[in-house]
Amino acid sequence: ARKFIVGGNWKCNGTRSMITDLCKELGKGESIAGKNVEVVIGTPYLYADYTRKNLRPDWSIALQNSWVGKGGAFTGEISAEMIKDIGVGWVILGHSERRNLPQLKESDETVAIKTKYAINNGLQVMFCCGELLEEREAGKTMEVNERQCAALAAKLDVADWAKVVIAYEPVWAIGTGKVASPEQAQEVHEKLRAWLAKAVNPRVAAQTRIIYGGSVTDKNCMELAQKPDIDGFLVGGASLKPDFLKIVDAYKAK
Ligand code: PEP
Repeated sequence: ARKFIVGGNWKCNGTRSMITDLCKELGKGESIAGKNVEVVIGTPYLYADYTRKNLRPDWSIALQNSWVGKGGAFTGEISAEMIKDIGVGWVILGHSERRNLPQLKESDETVAIKTKYAINNGLQVMFCCGELLEEREAGKTMEVNERQCAALAAKLDVADWAKVVIAYEPVWAIGTGKVASPEQAQEVHEKLRAWLAKAVNPRVAAQTRIIYGGSVTDKNCMELAQKPDIDGFLVGGASLKPDFLKIVDAYKAK
C-alpha cells in the first residue's frame, strides 16, 4: 500500500511571528507517528531553520526549489547540497508558478534536471505537473502531463522513482477556489499511473505516490481522498491555516 502523503506549500508567505503561531496550532493535532501518513511542509528558504525549530517533530520540511546542479557562481540560488546540509530531506520542484510565471518560465527539461540532481544528492522530490485551463479545454490534459513526466523519466534511473512523489496540480485549480472534482482528479491520476507502467514499469506505477493539488480544503479533501489513485495532497492556501490538520486527517478515508 502507498503511504498517504500531505504536503503544505507555504510559498513566499510568512514571518517568524506567523510561523510561531501557525506551528503552535498545527502542533495540537494528534501524532502521526506510526500512522499510514506523512506530512511535509514547504517553507520559504529563509525560514527553514526557524520552521524546523517550531514545527512538530513528526512532520518533515521541504524547500520550494533548488538549483540545477552543484552550487557556485549562481547568485541568489540554493543548491541541493545546501538543502541536505541543513537537514531538510525534501524539495518541491516544477511547481506551476515556477513553470509558468513570466519571470521564471522553467522548462520541462530544467525541472527534470533539477529533480535528478536533487535525488542524486539524497533529497526526496515532490515533482509537480499540471495543465493550464486552455490546455484542458483543448483536450490536451494528458498530453501536457505526460510530456512533463516524460521529460523527467528521460533523466531518471528506475531506482530514482522511489524518491519521487508526483503532484498533479491542474493550474486552473491552483489558488482559484475551483477544485477539480474527485472524478476529474481520479481520471488524470489513473491515466498517469497507466502511463508510468508503460513508460517506466508496472512496479514503479504501483508504488509511486500521485497526489492532487489545487484548492484542496478541509471541506473537499475527504471525497478526493476516497479515490483509489489519489495518494494525498499538495496544499497551498489551506496549509497556512490550522484547518490543515483536517486535511492531514483525510488519510483516514483510505
Ligand atoms: C499549490 O500551490 O501547490 C496549491 C495547490 O495551492 P492552493 O491549494 O492554494 O490551490
